[in-house]
Amino acid sequence: MDYLPVFLDLAARRALVVGGGAVAARKVELLLKAHARVRVVAPALHPELVLYRDAGRIEHIASAFEPSHLEDTVFAIAATDRPDVNRAVAAAGAARNVFVNVVDDVAASSCILPAIVDRSPVIVAVGTSGQSPTLARRVRSQLETVLPERLGELARFAGQARERVRRALPDAQRRRQFWDRLFAGRVATQVLAGQKAAAEALLEQELADVARAADVAGAADVAGAAGARGRGEVYLIGAGPGDADLLTVRAQQLLQQADVVLYDRLIGPSVLERVRRDALRVFVGKQTGRHRVTQERIHALLLEYAGRGLRVARLKGGDPFVFGRGGEEIDVLRRAGVPVIIVPGITAALGAAASAGLPLTQRGVAQAVTLVTAMGEGAEALDWRALAAPLQTVVVYMGVAQLPRIVERLLAHGAPGERPAAIVEQATLPDERVIAGTLATIAGQAQAAQVGAPALLIVGEVAARACQAQSHGESLPVTTDRGTGQGEGRRA
Ligand code: SAH
Repeated sequence: MDYLPVFLDLAARRALVVGGGAVAARKVELLLKAHARVRVVAPALHPELVLYRDAGRIEHIASAFEPSHLEDTVFAIAATDRPDVNRAVAAAGAARNVFVNVVDDVAASSCILPAIVDRSPVIVAVGTSGQSPTLARRVRSQLETVLPERLGELARFAGQARERVRRALPDAQRRRQFWDRLFAGRVATQVLAGQKAAAEALLEQELADVARAADVAGAADVAGAAGARGRGEVYLIGAGPGDADLLTVRAQQLLQQADVVLYDRLIGPSVLERVRRDALRVFVGKQTGRHRVTQERIHALLLEYAGRGLRVARLKGGDPFVFGRGGEEIDVLRRAGVPVIIVPGITAALGAAASAGLPLTQRGVAQAVTLVTAMGEGAEALDWRALAAPLQTVVVYMGVAQLPRIVERLLAHGAPGERPAAIVEQATLPDERVIAGTLATIAGQAQAAQVGAPALLIVGEVAARACQAQSHGESLPVTTDRGTGQGEGRRA
């Protein structure tokens, strides 16, 4: 190890920046963030630095660098575009035992500024000992994606609970085990999901468990299974329309954490790849006709796994609250007192629109979007006249077999036969197909192309823009018979 990483407390200490350009401005910003008193030496200042100076946030010495400028400073950055000046700063620093970083010159520097992931108070610093700043930045951006946005909040939460935990668990080793479980468990998950009140309540519960265990069994099992891991939790996760890269960052974080994953037919292998290797995967795909029974069985499974103290991910296609029966599942869980975290996903309509290059709203053409399902008994009761009205986009989540009936109803309620319509099959997946036509032609086109599930019907003027805008995976989009050839051509 050629360098020692340290975190400097610069609050109210003086730091010097030599240089007045854009690079210097970035360094000044960083130092101000760390509450340093910043002195800038430069004959002229970048506009951003002028603002800092005028606001009284920096001290500006408008001259060339002189070693005396290092007086009273603990740390300096040389950021001019003149190597000779930068080296002079480094030499003057060395003579006074002041650490100097010279921008883009490791050899002249006595310290290196790391790439930073800032989740204050959690700060991750990455360095390559000067070998490759680009690599350091790359590592940083990889860390950005795995470190939750609210990690800092979790640190503060833990900081605030520290005294209480110390009192409840005087033994240092037990306390460490408690914290370890806490950070791996539902208290942490709730904080990271922004549910501070729920987290606080769970923490109280777990501290109470600890106290009870201490009463009953003496100190022996205090930190045992009766404590933090006693009860499970459920993550209701929207997995998006299919392409695994459309999972949210939070979905991926929770999938890495879950002990059990319940998934259904819409969840493909590439999304399942993102699940923790050793997690139990349970397929709960529903068979049509046995809908109700199966949904109840899913509820039972959720309760059973959570009851065993496991972290259960309920993975659903698209968004859990858009035709996903997510509402029923959270009701059941809440009634049973199981904590639930809901993670939104990209619903199929949004995935399909992006894939087909088709905006769902457009000024003067589509002022509203309606997401509707034509499956089940509810279809009769829909306001078909409203759905047939112009100036909107109607996206129908459907069983493909329903398509002719849907089109028939729209036409019967006043929609013109020439209104553009498109079908997006397997949106965002490697075998995606886009079929564009009109209300008059689309059912025939779909039949000729043997469209299968899952597929969406998009009706409205914007559907005229449908095309195979993006290709997913390796396979090329399949060409279809375009019926009467209305609508736009495909682009691969
Ligand atoms: N909760 C899901 C919808 C579930 S209902 C969501 O928000 O997307 C199931 C219907 O969604 C399917 O019948 C189909 O119409 C639509 N669907 C889901 N994924 C799709 C995809 N990748 N491509 C096209 N349609 C899809």
